[in-house]
Amino acid sequence: MSEIKSIGILTSGGDAPGMNAAIRAVTRTAIFNGLKVYGIYRGYQGLIEDHIEEFKTQNVSNIISRGGTILKTARSMEFKTPEGRALAYENMKKHEIDALVVIGGDGSMTGASYLAKEFDVPIVGLPGTIDNDLAGTDVTIGYDTAMNTIMDCVDKIRDTATSHARLFFIEVMGRDAGFLALNGAIATGCEDVIIPEEKTQYEQLKELVANGFRKSKSSAMVIVTESKDPNGGAMGLAKKMKEEFPDYDVRCSILGHLQRGGSPTAADRILASRTGYAAIEALLQGQRNVMIGVHNDHIVNVPFAKAIKDDKPIDQELLNVLRVLSI
Ligand code: ADP
Repeated sequence: MSEIKSIGILTSGGDAPGMNAAIRAVTRTAIFNGLKVYGIYRGYQGLIEDHIEEFKTQNVSNIISRGGTILKTARSMEFKTPEGRALAYENMKKHEIDALVVIGGDGSMTGASYLAKEFDVPIVGLPGTIDNDLAGTDVTIGYDTAMNTIMDCVDKIRDTATSHARLFFIEVMGRDAGFLALNGAIATGCEDVIIPEEKTQYEQLKELVANGFRKSKSSAMVIVTESKDPNGGAMGLAKKMKEEFPDYDVRCSILGHLQRGGSPTAADRILASRTGYAAIEALLQGQRNVMIGVHNDHIVNVPFAKAIKDDKPIDQELLNVLRVLSI
């Protein structure tokens, strides 16, 4: 195994608050250990297009509290092709970049595993996604901040929902994972949740409404995960419910990209700092093709294949918590 003298760092896919804190941690730990650091802009696309700059410690000053990513991010179709990845590898060689740290979600980890396999490049990943949908780690960078943003927004919607006795559907992000929706619903005292992991929820929701949630409450709030919801997300659900229960004042709100922004919470800054530090330690110790995660508050190295492929189930007990507490 050849010695690592320089690393490249990139952020890829969906942005998440805390990515900057991770860039800072990786850069500073690498420089502390005598490595050269290259910032690669716009994810894999920037690697293909040679959008690369050497980073010193000052490049990452005052970014720990900033949302977004100073390295920018992108979705690169070209990198999905063997030809695109070959160009990316050529640029790594050109700058004498020996290893990569990739911060992103499951798509980014998939891309990293291809590059690692095809060109024998040492790569370590950091889980950067608000969706919390990577297996092998209890949390991902950005999840806590997004959850707090959701909490803030839903609290505000609750004020108006209560004043008008409304049935509100609120759509949150999460792609195929219901973590944001379920924990967001618990944190804001919502009446119900619709998540991709549970198939029978629409019927239960109808029951809740039919049995008159208003017996004890003047309003009801339901959080819905975006995208693949067969009922058409919050908008579709609101429409269906209005048709079935025309007497109710049904409204919907889609939180959208608000959820990606903002200064990262303390939890995300600490997670990003710990995992960023651990990424360089792992590379120096000869670890390859792993994503750094946290399990039971301990740093763990998760093979890419496990992080990407394994299902990360939701805790069924959390659904019970929601239902019991919302009577
Ligand atoms: P995220 O990392 O947030 O899940 P994406 O799914 O968009 O976001 O993936 C980010 C990038 O990772 C893609 O634009 C692409 O360049 C790369 N990528 C994703 N899937 C693959 C794949 N199957 N093969 C190669 N590269 C991939």
